[in-house]
Amino acid sequence: MSKLVSCFAVVALCSIYLSEAATPKRKINVYTQNNNKFQGDIANVPKHPKKTRNGIKFPQEKWTSAQIPYVISTSGTTAITNPSMVRAAMNTIESQSCVRFVQRTTQTNYLNIIKTADGCYSNVGMSGGPQDVSLQDDTSGTCMVAEIIVHELLHATGLYHEQSRYDRDNYITVNYGNIETGQADQFDIVTLANSDVYNTQYDFQSVMHYDQFAFAKSRGLVTIQAKSPNTQYQATMGNVLKPSAIDMTKIRRIYGCDNTPVVTQPPVVVRTNPPTVCTDNVPISICTTFSFFCRSDNFMMTNCRKSCRICV
Ligand SMILES: [Zn+2]
Repeated sequence: MSKLVSCFAVVALCSIYLSEAATPKRKINVYTQNNNKFQGDIANVPKHPKKTRNGIKFPQEKWTSAQIPYVISTSGTTAITNPSMVRAAMNTIESQSCVRFVQRTTQTNYLNIIKTADGCYSNVGMSGGPQDVSLQDDTSGTCMVAEIIVHELLHATGLYHEQSRYDRDNYITVNYGNIETGQADQFDIVTLANSDVYNTQYDFQSVMHYDQFAFAKSRGLVTIQAKSPNTQYQATMGNVLKPSAIDMTKIRRIYGCDNTPVVTQPPVVVRTNPPTVCTDNVPISICTTFSFFCRSDNFMMTNCRKSCRICV
């Protein structure tokens, strides 16, 4: 009887997975997508920026009065496939800051939110004039994922990637030997003279942090190692589903509203809970068969942690 029950359980899991796989859109890795953007998804920044910052610092880069006008494309080839997901991501940022996304009327500076075939990207802060936020969504990949949309909107609001902080070597080790040829500069550090971290601590749970395999030269090689005493973040960094408390503190400090009453944040949700033992929850044959979905499918990321090398 127990064998029957366990067989049934496996079949049920497979059925659930296969029904999910009926619409297999690959979630785009915003950091390593191949579209010639700085650090994968930042537009209009030279490859070797002199002034990259953890958060924007200069007044001309901040949105006037913390109001961010936007247009979401709803027609033609650039039409955003699910505008309500974009608005939901805006609501997430608004609920924890004084930043407000407002539909553009006649403003000169605004976000032009469009679908392109070039992945997910944004400028950082206000650039002047219209500036594109690209959210690809087609059979080759999708950015229409809550954490990707909020990540791009946080770039547009004013945040760079977390591991570019001036002090990151105190918290992570970058394994340069495991990085794809020609991509080492994606891990450049910026000096404090050119950066402002708004008096916040290094944040492994930032939605702006790379994951442990970013720019690896081959699958499963670890490029970022969390240092002691923060090794518990090894698998979860780069995989959070929401902005962290520190992400939102930075936004509030950029816009001078640190005392704004905010919605209390629930604990940061991560895609998976790091188990004490690294193991798969389903037979390895399932994990192997569907390994293509290792980084894009919740079932795989939950149940094939070992085979997908999400844990080590
Ligand atoms: Zn990014």
